[in-house]
Amino acid sequence: MPGIADAALVLVLGAAGAAAGACAGRLVPLFARHDPASDEDTPPPPPACPHCGAAVPFLPWLPAVRVRGFARSGHCPSCAQAVPTSAAVAAATALLFAACGAAVGVAGAEHNPLWLAALLFFAAVGVPLAAVDIRVQRLPNAIVGPAYLVAVPLVLGAAVLERAARVPAAPGAPALAGADLLAAAEPLGGMAGLAALYWLLWFVYPAGMGWGDVKIAGLVGLHLGWAGPGAVVAGTLAAFVASAVYGLALVALRRATRRTRIPFGPFMIGGALAALLVGDLAVATAAV
Ligand SMILES: [Zn+2]
Repeated sequence: MPGIADAALVLVLGAAGAAAGACAGRLVPLFARHDPASDEDTPPPPPACPHCGAAVPFLPWLPAVRVRGFARSGHCPSCAQAVPTSAAVAAATALLFAACGAAVGVAGAEHNPLWLAALLFFAAVGVPLAAVDIRVQRLPNAIVGPAYLVAVPLVLGAAVLERAARVPAAPGAPALAGADLLAAAEPLGGMAGLAALYWLLWFVYPAGMGWGDVKIAGLVGLHLGWAGPGAVVAGTLAAFVASAVYGLALVALRRATRRTRIPFGPFMIGGALAALLVGDLAVATAAV
């Protein structure tokens, strides 16, 4: 019965998301506020323990701390105090993992496991990034850089797998013909397109767009590009509309003025996940 299997997938992924979010939540307090307006040339401070200030090294190829057991216990290598995790990050990751499971379903996961993995990774890394942006208005390289290293092969692999499944290979032809590699063009196009758009917005009006937003634009465009140009437009529009509504609401409630800087990263990541998951959820619901 596919219904029970799909429900089990949602539950298992929700639990996995809670665990992954509890680990990722410990990354959030490692990043301190950095005000580049006062000194343009000073690089932002490296990730450091919030208790003793000692630098906490990150792995170069994975958005994780290079300290054994840190993700589980959060113990600082210098002062041994535990870096607290964030219940909000754990809850948001659990919800998003469950939504990924509901949107993709067991059939989708069997059809293209790489895409489910790519979605889960994007959610796992997107939530702590959004949390850091909300807390200290930064999208740190220590997380963004390795996120590209993992996401690009995952999404390109998913795109090639998707095309190979949709277009059956001619008899006698190799399983992966050269044309299948063209499937990578859409995610790469989304990545280049959104990076260019955000770079242009930043270049024209640097006060309106942070450099961190430009840095993650490629990551966001890569995932939206997988679903096609329509998703790139929908996800980007969703980010701008949602942030405008949020900003107007803050002004109306007198919690902000027109000049208040609202972190845009959470809207970019949220808009992309909404465009990707709502589209799939609509298809999944229609199929039931
Ligand atoms: Zn410490």
